[in-house]
Amino acid sequence: MIETFAGALAPDVLSLAEEKQAMLAAIVASSGDSIISKTTRGTITTWNPAAERMFGYTEAEAVGRSIMLIVPPDREAEETYIIGQILQGKKVEHFDTLRRAKDGRTIPVSVTVSPIFNKDGVIVGASTIARDVSDRLLAGEKKAILAAIVASSDDVIISKTLQGIITSWNKAAEKTFGYTEAEAVGKHISLIIPPDRLSEEDFILSQISNGRKVDHFETIRRGKNGQDVYLSVTVSPVVDEGGKIIGASKVARDITPIKQAAEKKGLLAAIASTSDDTIVSKTLEGIITSWNRAAEKMFGYSQQEALGRHISLIIPPERLEEETYIIGEVSKGRKVDHFQTVRMAKDGHMVPISLTVSPILDENGKIIGASKIARDLSDHLALQEEKARLYDEIKALNDKKDEFIGLASHELKTPLTSILAYLQILNNDISEERRKEFLRRTTQQVKKLNNLVSDLLDISKIEAGKMKFDPAPFDICQVVRDAIDLITQANTTHTIRLYTDLKKFIVTGDSQRIDQVILNLLTNAIRYSPGSFEIDVYISAENGLVKVGVRDRGIGIPEDKLTQIFSRFYRINENKSSLGLGLGLYLSRQIIERHHGHIWAESKPGEGSVFYFTLPIVNS
Ligand code: ADP
Repeated sequence: MIETFAGALAPDVLSLAEEKQAMLAAIVASSGDSIISKTTRGTITTWNPAAERMFGYTEAEAVGRSIMLIVPPDREAEETYIIGQILQGKKVEHFDTLRRAKDGRTIPVSVTVSPIFNKDGVIVGASTIARDVSDRLLAGEKKAILAAIVASSDDVIISKTLQGIITSWNKAAEKTFGYTEAEAVGKHISLIIPPDRLSEEDFILSQISNGRKVDHFETIRRGKNGQDVYLSVTVSPVVDEGGKIIGASKVARDITPIKQAAEKKGLLAAIASTSDDTIVSKTLEGIITSWNRAAEKMFGYSQQEALGRHISLIIPPERLEEETYIIGEVSKGRKVDHFQTVRMAKDGHMVPISLTVSPILDENGKIIGASKIARDLSDHLALQEEKARLYDEIKALNDKKDEFIGLASHELKTPLTSILAYLQILNNDISEERRKEFLRRTTQQVKKLNNLVSDLLDISKIEAGKMKFDPAPFDICQVVRDAIDLITQANTTHTIRLYTDLKKFIVTGDSQRIDQVILNLLTNAIRYSPGSFEIDVYISAENGLVKVGVRDRGIGIPEDKLTQIFSRFYRINENKSSLGLGLGLYLSRQIIERHHGHIWAESKPGEGSVFYFTLPIVNS
């Protein structure tokens, strides 16, 4: 505190007082702080050299002026407050405010203002000591900035004492480890150290105590949930103002994603190396950059032999153009899928493979090469060959079977023909009615048998492609009429009526075969209409076709069976002991189609069926 003495003093102490005054004046003059005195009305009465330096006004310029000279307009109220305090005899201490220099600069100051009393104890003025605190503020600001940086850093920043007690814990630390600042500060750093890594901390602290920094130390720490956190840590000593090491600051970067990516890479590499499929990668220029174990096995080149070589190493010369095509596709970012080709192994043998080639992209998405997965097709081909062999074998067996049926039917046919002939002769010799009846029945059964054998013979002929036709012009109306007559003679139960406008209609074809079809349709019409006795036959000609229809009023055919009935050995009710073998309609279809016609059925179960066939009038 500086006081200005303004009163007369006793003579014996005068010299002492004078001395003291001189000393004080010297102090004021040499003080680094601005020392200014003013009256209670604010008129400047003294102005020391430090004030001259701080505010830029000389003593002569300042003394006699109002203190408002250095008070910024927005701070005038402060001055009123300070004067108020002074007038009450109070001191204002370390009051932080702003003052203005001659050149307009604002100066942060800490002021201490004290009242000045006269010898009667009356307050006559005030002394002001002002200290420039720019530096102090700067330091404070710097600290604030640093604190803000620490708080907002993405890196974990932790400080601790040399004993390992956590003293600060930033936001990133909270995020990485899951402990809040409140939970962490004051705890030992072992909070986040896995037990098996505690010795690391001893090492780090010993380094720090010796003033050494620990740089980019990769380790694992443990989060609140027990999760492993991979970190790259830099630990530096914290030094106090006196240069003494008082703790350590730790900056750590979470490298978990990097580690995981590396692990994934390692895993992928492991998968590639153990894959049964050949996996090869190459640059866009075709230089081999990876070669897995399956590739070694497939092509016979070891990894060392293959790496760095051009992929043409395994491409047969006549297939080199394929590579140009593949690389072309891959360069455009396209994948080449299941490309079947042949590659050449080290010993020269050809390997049939199915290739899938995909572009390899770098981190920026640029195509830098191609990965190739090749699957050995040898087995696949062997399987196909085996299938083809089996197929041939079965076909040969099937042909043999048809041949046998053909042969057997042929052998059966000869004795049957003789039997029928002798039965005919016998019929002429016998006159007794009872015996004639037996003979008639026998003949009927033998004819049936003969028909079956004929059908079987026809089938084997068709299968062997040996069924012959003798085409010639014939009257279809006549053939239909003859067939109706024949059936009517043998069958007394059903009435067959013919409906047609035509008397005669000539078509070209094998009349015996067409007759066989009509007989078959009529036989079926009778066979499958046990409860009704009327059968209608139609003949019509239109649009270059002649159409024959046979209608019964029998059991009918379900819609989903209407086409199946024309296939070989197909019978709708297989279990029912039926009279046929399921060959009649199949043979009919073969015959009609060989005549360039069509055959089909229309039916409603329970109401009967109509079978139609058409033949072209002009048969080519
Ligand atoms: P099948 O010798 O058994 O008569 P088809 O090839 O002539 O052989 O006929 C095949 C099957 O079609 C027959 O088993 C029968 O189930 C059915 N079918 C043929 N014609 C008729 C018809 N007019 N009415 C009902 N079903 C028929």
